[in-house]
Amino acid sequence: MKVFKFGGASVKDAEGIKNVYSVLQQVGHEDVLLVISAMGKTTNALEVVIKNYFDKSAELLASIQEVRKYHNQILLELFEDENHAVFAAVGKIFSDLEVFLKGTKSPNYNYVYDQVVSLGEVVSTTIVSHYFNHVGLKNTWVDVRELIKTDNTYRDAIVDWDATQKNISKGIKKKNLNITQGFLGSDENNFTTTLGREGSDYTAAIFAYCLNAESVTIWKDVPGVLNADPRYFDNAVLLNQISYREAIELAFYGATVIHPKTLQPLQRKEIPLYVKSFVNPLLPGTSVSKGADLEPQTSCFIVKKNQLLISLSSLDFSFIMEENISEIFLLLHKYRMKVSLIQNSAISFSVCVDDKFGNFAELKAVLSKKFKVTYNDDVSLYTIRHFSDKSEATVTTGKEVLVKQTSRETLQIVTKEIA
Ligand code: ADP
Ligand code: ASP
Ligand code: MG
Repeated sequence: MKVFKFGGASVKDAEGIKNVYSVLQQVGHEDVLLVISAMGKTTNALEVVIKNYFDKSAELLASIQEVRKYHNQILLELFEDENHAVFAAVGKIFSDLEVFLKGTKSPNYNYVYDQVVSLGEVVSTTIVSHYFNHVGLKNTWVDVRELIKTDNTYRDAIVDWDATQKNISKGIKKKNLNITQGFLGSDENNFTTTLGREGSDYTAAIFAYCLNAESVTIWKDVPGVLNADPRYFDNAVLLNQISYREAIELAFYGATVIHPKTLQPLQRKEIPLYVKSFVNPLLPGTSVSKGADLEPQTSCFIVKKNQLLISLSSLDFSFIMEENISEIFLLLHKYRMKVSLIQNSAISFSVCVDDKFGNFAELKAVLSKKFKVTYNDDVSLYTIRHFSDKSEATVTTGKEVLVKQTSRETLQIVTKEIA
């Protein structure tokens, strides 16, 4: 079996969905599991709904209506007959959402978040599955929440591999074209969970691992893995072949073309990963596989924007030692900060973090009881794999360098735009 993942960009409109059909016609669709994300920016739009709900904003219904209209427009372009069952199926998902928001009493933001954002994937797969049937491509719609089991860390759930393995072995019919949702799972009470933003690549890897798939292909709006994000760097070049090791490093440092959790399950079973263009599906793209000799011959650039550089120093000039550092890390973990760089000296300790969940104000209040806390917000973290003097200059020119760190293959620089 092959696992294909189509992300938000590939299904952002009716043309995109028709293109997914065309890709399958070109590359084959027998014995394939399709993992599909929410359409376009739907997840962001549903985040607005959740915010409006918790803020008790008068905009709540309008924000739901906006998401609904966006999908309805796509439906109108895909299906001539408004009596087609898909209209009712999608309509029901949105009316269920309104019922849920009216009825829930939960003050747990992250729980409500997962119940709501997950609808993006439920709607997209419902539309794609109906459309494929409509144009004669028979398929089975699979509810991933019945297969991928997780703990209840809403918004960043951890997979229960044993339960998931059992469910997937039983629940997926080989030889069919199966269509399922990326990003979602469910906890032991069957409440929906999500695997972290952009987590659909990871879903593809979970299925591939459990099905012993032949390969995973993630279809993107770029030709494959490039040596830099073309949105921020000119002249990015395609990496034809890279090792799991290189891919995991690139993804870990923030090359968003592959979700970082994707590589580990694939590497364990040596399942090849292909990153290909959904615009030119017959081109080879990038292949990620075993092999130490697949190091890129060129510098690779990764940028993480909007990071926080937090520096702590002791209030009484005492050293920052193991016991303080472990306490600091417990707090970073508790407030769900993703640490991307660490630097310490005798009496100070700095971390560059991604405050994905907006918890810094709370964390700062706690840390300030023990440390002097200073910070720079809105800094950029540049990582260069296989760096050179020339590649370093590319990222530092015209910027203030706050931290610079080098290891054998990797250079990391925290910069601030000069105002
Ligand atoms: P999806 O539609 O699957 O969610 P993403 O938008 O998450 O796809 O990933 C594709 C995007 O990743 C590209 O449009 C590109 O801007 C970005 N990207 C970041 N780093 C790289 C890289 N090294 N190579 C290719 N694309 C990259
Ligand atoms: N729809 C989810 C998100 O936008 C998951 C994904 O696209 O991978 O984060
Ligand atoms: Mg994405």
